[in-house]
Amino acid sequence: MKAIIFGPPGSGKGTYASRLRAKLGVDVIAMGDIFREIMKEDSPLGKKVKQYVEKGLLVPDDVVIEVLKQRLAKSSSKKGFILDGFPRTLEQANALDKIVAIDVVIKLTAPDSIIIERLSTRWICKSCGEVYNVRYLKPKVEGLCDRCGGQLYQRPDDTAKVIKERIQVYERQTQQILQHYKEKKVQFVEFKCEILDMAPDVAVESILRDLKTLKLA
Ligand code: ADP
Repeated sequence: MKAIIFGPPGSGKGTYASRLRAKLGVDVIAMGDIFREIMKEDSPLGKKVKQYVEKGLLVPDDVVIEVLKQRLAKSSSKKGFILDGFPRTLEQANALDKIVAIDVVIKLTAPDSIIIERLSTRWICKSCGEVYNVRYLKPKVEGLCDRCGGQLYQRPDDTAKVIKERIQVYERQTQQILQHYKEKKVQFVEFKCEILDMAPDVAVESILRDLKTLKLA
């Protein structure tokens, strides 16, 4: 399965992608995580990426596409992959079309009120990127990751003030990309979240059912 997952910040994208990875054995390729790793390196690429990410700007397409190409080449799973955070521009979508044919777009939606409540209570593992919520999806030990024992932190941009802006940016960026895949007649699996504290497995099971119907899982 070659999938792309789209969803506004706080829609559960990272959580569901991680569970789909466990259930389907696919690789999850999360662009934001890749850039956070690259920025830790004291390399020319790390420095360049940092200039954009720290300002909340998109990294230039040529850089993103090159980084993605290399990451895809390293992907070892024969079951396929889920792309998260890519493509974010039409140019990236067009470049991806030349690299690989996408089977399915997984599209998540959630109302703004749910997004804001979820993100302002979200904690992420520094080591493996697993996502928790101090109200609805608590780690077993406060401040520590269930999966790897890593330290949990809050992203500096997960504040109510910045979240509304991020939702608008997401919608602006994604509209034309979703249109691109509709025009190409790529299959869509959609999940609409309407309950704040919905168990992640409810969404994951629904997505899996739809993927099975499409014979992709
Ligand atoms: P967010 O949800 O805040 O955008 P991500 O973790 O997806 O967080 O990405 C973090 C940052 O990495 C982005 O703000 C951007 O600077 C950069 N980035 C991630 N994916 C892309 C992409 N496809 N194209 C350009 N820049 C990207």
